[in-house]
Amino acid sequence: MFIPLQKLKEYALSFGVQLDDTALERFDIYGKLLAEWNEKINLTAITDPEGIALKHFADSLSVLRYCEIPEEARIIDVGTGAGFPGLALLISRPDIKLTLLDSTKKKLGVIEDILKNIGLEAEILHSRAEEAGQNKLYREKFDIATARAVANLRELSEYCLPFVKPGGRFVSMKAAKAGEEIDGAEKAITVLGGKTESIHNFELFEAGERNIIIIKKISPTIAKYPRPSAKIAKNPLE
Ligand code: SAM
Repeated sequence: MFIPLQKLKEYALSFGVQLDDTALERFDIYGKLLAEWNEKINLTAITDPEGIALKHFADSLSVLRYCEIPEEARIIDVGTGAGFPGLALLISRPDIKLTLLDSTKKKLGVIEDILKNIGLEAEILHSRAEEAGQNKLYREKFDIATARAVANLRELSEYCLPFVKPGGRFVSMKAAKAGEEIDGAEKAITVLGGKTESIHNFELFEAGERNIIIIKKISPTIAKYPRPSAKIAKNPLE
């Protein structure tokens, strides 16, 4: 056993998530592979088993406490990196139809290896979010878009909201002091067809403050968004 599985089980339970033996075994394999791959590719600064259990796995699972995920929901994790929160959500909810998007190909190679080893399937999408959001195969096709540690909420909304079907949700995970960032993104969220539905501030045990922002898609996104990356960076929506 690599990950402290009893602890992980308790963290998950605190979010109302029951992890069965299969899920726990998959988390253990995932954690071990993450630490191994991290010696070759820089994936994460957190490599100790306790840190992975709390700051990666439990943090990712906290989404389930605040956002109801319908059975077989189609979910895209934008800027997934080493799979957070998307792959952790898939382990706890193998019914979801998951797409893992990142612009860094080598990280997606690691995810492919992890998926193979834990025996689960997900779509791997190597693209910038701004480009995939203009592709009709992905635009407004998802019930939920998630993102953790990818960009400022204002830019991130332009990356993520175009993927979400009207009626669906964009779930943004932020660490401490997110208030100002949330205020600064309100206008962009409205322009992109979203509406902030709820903001959940909580302590992730000894890891400290976390925020989960749930944005509902209330109308389709205007065709010109997302704009090319240079435009988003130069001229953020405000
Ligand atoms: N979500 C993961 C986590 O919380 O551990 C990874 C976070 S990492 C700091 C940010 C990731 O977002 C990187 O893997 C990067 O390649 C990806 N990324 C940043 N901007 C992106 C964009 N515009 N489109 C796709 N991926 C992007």
